Amino acid sequence: MRTSQYLLATIKESPADAEIISHKLMIRAGMVRKLASGLYNWLPLGLRVLNNITKIVREEMNKSGAMEVSMPIVQHAELWHETGRWDQMGPELLRFKDRHNRDFCLGPNHEEVITDLVRNEYASYKQLPATFYQIQTKFRDERRPRFGVMRAREFIMKDAYSFHDSEACLKGTYERMHRTYCSIFDRLDLNYRSVIADSGNIGGSTSHEFHVLANSGEDDIVFSSEGDYAASIDLATGGLAFENQIEKENTPKEVDTGNATSVQEIADILEIQTRKIVKTLIVHAEDEGGNVTDGLVAFFLRGDQELNVIKAQNIAGVFSPLKFASDELIRNKINSHVGYLGPVKLSIRKIADYSVKDLCNFTCGANKPGKHLTNMNWSKACSYDEIVDIRRVQQKDISPKKNGSLLIKKGIEVGHIFQLGHKYSQALNATVLDENGKAVQMLMGCYGIGVTRLVAACIEQNHDEKGIIWPENIAPFQLLIIEIDAHKSTQVTECSNSIYKRYSKLGVDILLDDRDKKTSPGVKFADSELIGIPHRLVISPRSLENGAVEYTCRNGRKKQQINIKEIEIFLNDLLLAC
Ligand code: ATP
Ligand code: MG
Repeated sequence: MRTSQYLLATIKESPADAEIISHKLMIRAGMVRKLASGLYNWLPLGLRVLNNITKIVREEMNKSGAMEVSMPIVQHAELWHETGRWDQMGPELLRFKDRHNRDFCLGPNHEEVITDLVRNEYASYKQLPATFYQIQTKFRDERRPRFGVMRAREFIMKDAYSFHDSEACLKGTYERMHRTYCSIFDRLDLNYRSVIADSGNIGGSTSHEFHVLANSGEDDIVFSSEGDYAASIDLATGGLAFENQIEKENTPKEVDTGNATSVQEIADILEIQTRKIVKTLIVHAEDEGGNVTDGLVAFFLRGDQELNVIKAQNIAGVFSPLKFASDELIRNKINSHVGYLGPVKLSIRKIADYSVKDLCNFTCGANKPGKHLTNMNWSKACSYDEIVDIRRVQQKDISPKKNGSLLIKKGIEVGHIFQLGHKYSQALNATVLDENGKAVQMLMGCYGIGVTRLVAACIEQNHDEKGIIWPENIAPFQLLIIEIDAHKSTQVTECSNSIYKRYSKLGVDILLDDRDKKTSPGVKFADSELIGIPHRLVISPRSLENGAVEYTCRNGRKKQQINIKEIEIFLNDLLLAC
């Protein structure tokens, strides 16, 4: 491609709404343009990168034995009624009616559609296992679309679904898909981690997320300084960095704490450490149908620890999503107030975290205005009903395998795999006949990769202050040839054209910057750093006079003069050697 005939839409300034580097660089390099909130046009340069990533994803999925299909983005409501998700999904599911007043939605994923397809096409266990995938547009009406294509409303996902007649078979495919994902992210040169994860509202039990490590990531991921333990913050477990010490029990005392309500304020007034305080949080219970009730549940945590909302809302009988009780409800139901809540004489369900289990001589709210109790110990009057891990692990906690300590880093979720089990096949009655001729529901797995998000994630890990530094296998072009002062010497154009033609024919993707003198060399160089093509040749009258052209590698920016007579050997080595 020649820049004179190409939409090289680079711009100097970042848009005001771009917070993270990949968003800024994708706009500045002319890869994407915003159409509306969470909706993007992909320009030619951006689409080349997206297509390169898609190609790698497709190749690895095909290698895994999965079959590519394409399902409509528009889905009719009946299937979603069958699984109950029409009512369960919030406004993220974009719903609309057709001209016959029938309900439809835009697919945020395709579990319903694929399960319907497979229940109609498959009849016998002998046809299993089967895995299908597509690389296709998804729509989720995200509450806060942001960070460009990282959290868009319309985005491209590679979604795959597997069908099985046994747990062992599902596990086998799940593990193969895990390996496939590793191959994909390895080929993309990403620094990533796979972590055990919560399966959220998709359902099922086992699940792993794949995170690209980057400070701009929205998720906290946890791993051990030693060993291979890695988990999303939602599921991570670990031992306390400061364990509770066994002490001789002192005599309890009620103390005045005035208007102080927060753990830190109480610790300051009483001159104690926050880890000697038990804090109490009150949330709503749920009924057997999963509906919110005015029943209350108390959580007890050590003062220096935080509640893990996901762990807490996953407890049976606790309403999910977690809903904290209002001050009014607390007053009416248990005659206390936020700020001096405590376990004493509390007659609701009481769930303690392990962090308070062996805590001695602690301080807690007295359930009386402006009062706390010190030197408390667990007893009949000050008790809990259950001990559950509801704690958000902290940096430096002890790894659950006791080898090493926990590190918390920021990650961008680029992939997520689930063992769904019977969730969708049961709801949609997707069966095959087993070896005895009996209809059995299939087991399912599902596997997603955020393909458009991957483009942004790659940039987060590959850039410098001047722009993007593309890894070779996803770069929009492999070679950039810049012509300088071509109007002063026909040799410049002759030389660049000859290289351009020769290597284009050999299948190398080349961008030839043949913009005329209206575009200064400075602008050409700045653009080249911004768009990040791995290899650059600069051809100018001056260099040709010396019988050379200048080569620069974008990664490292080392400059080299290449003798014009040796250019072919040099480029063959650089671009054609596999
Ligand atoms: P997130 O936690 O980031 O909202 P998710 O858990 O809802 O993602 P999945 O349902 O697991 O996402 O979808 C599979 C993959 O699709 C994710 O791992 C992510 O890479 C990508 N993805 C999800 N939502 C978006 C979005 N709004 N924009 C771009 N990519 C997305
Ligand atoms: Mg996910």
